[in-house]
Formats: sequence, structure tokens, C-alpha cells
Amino acid sequence: MKNIIFFGPPGAGKGTQAKVISEYLNISHLSTGDILRKKLLDNDELAKELKSIMSSGNLVSDEILNSIVSLRLKNERVNGFILDGYPRTIAQSKFLDNFLMKNSISINHIFNIQINFQTLQERILKRSSEESREDDNIDVIKTRYNEYLNSTEKVSNLYKQKNSTIFQEVDGSQQIHEITQKIKEILKKS
Ligand code: AMP
Repeated sequence: MKNIIFFGPPGAGKGTQAKVISEYLNISHLSTGDILRKKLLDNDELAKELKSIMSSGNLVSDEILNSIVSLRLKNERVNGFILDGYPRTIAQSKFLDNFLMKNSISINHIFNIQINFQTLQERILKRSSEESREDDNIDVIKTRYNEYLNSTEKVSNLYKQKNSTIFQEVDGSQQIHEITQKIKEILKKS
């Protein structure tokens, strides 16, 4: 059983890698962005609120995210899981650490996929033409990247300090298959 966290700025390719690796290891892929985008289809009051937050590139409240993730982890942690897009704030990381401790779950690997702003901007604009996501345009990309710098990067730095033996930096500017290969090699070594 493997429990993994993927960190990285928007457009770093963490969703792509998390999907491939979850299939490779046959474990659950918990993408909070995907879960929230599915929720938007409900078209109720919560969906409207989420839509306005997400389409502007801001973060959804910790309360909503913590309840989504804890519910999914309770149901889906049997074979292992990949967290993709969570935790993104210090409050979420505290909630997660507490949840994992209470349920005697440990994290085996943390991958931090890094790319520079120019590359991620090009990638996100390409994705916007392919997937027509409302949050994939220049202004929103800047907001999302700032949310990453102001909030999520602090979380990954904290995990790097506290869990240096399981924390791996991955160069996200490489080709998708090269990144997958690198991650698989690290997984095989453990
Ligand atoms: P993503 O697909 O991971 O880039 O997420 C898309 C959007 O969903 C983000 O820009 C946020 O608005 C929201 N979101 C996803 N995960 C989280 C999280 N852990 N905390 C807060 N907001 C989130």
C-alpha cells in the first residue's frame, strides 16, 4: 500500500502524473480540483458559490476541502491513495496530519513537481484550448500562481523540512513520459 502526495504549481503536470501513477500502483487518485469541478455540475447554491471562487482562481474554503478529503479518505484508502491538489494551505495540512495520525495512516512519498512561470503559462493556455476550463486564462493563471506562492509553496516547504526522507523534487519541465519514468524509479527503490 502506498500513500502519496503530489505538490506543484498549477500547470506543473501533477494531475497528469497522479493519474498515470495511480493506475500504475492501482490506488485511488483524489484530485480535489476534479472533485470540485464535478460538484459544479449540481447547479445548486454551493455550486454557484464554488464556480465564482474557482473561475477567479482563488482557493475554496478549508472547511469545504477538509470535509471532502476526509470523507473520501475514509471510503477509499483501502489500497492506498494519491492526494493531488491537497493540502494547499497550512490549515489544510494541519487538518490532514491530524486525520492521518488519528487513523494510523502514513504518507510514503511526497513528489514536488517544479516548473517556472513562463512554462506553466504556456502549458495552461494550451490546456485551455483543449479542455475549455474557465480558470485557464492569463489573469486567472496569475491569481492561481500567486495563491500557490503565497499559500501552497509554504505547505510543501514545511513538508520538505519535516519529511525530508520521503520528499522528492521532480523537474516538471521534462517530457511527460520522462517525469513518469523518474517517479517510477523512485517508487521502485523503496
Ligand atoms: P486544480 O485542478 O487542482 O488546479 O484546482 C482547481 C481549483 O479548485 C483551484 O484553483 C481552487 O479554486 C480549487 N481547489 C482545488 N483544490 C483546492 C484546495 N485544496 N484548497 C482550496 N481550493 C482548491
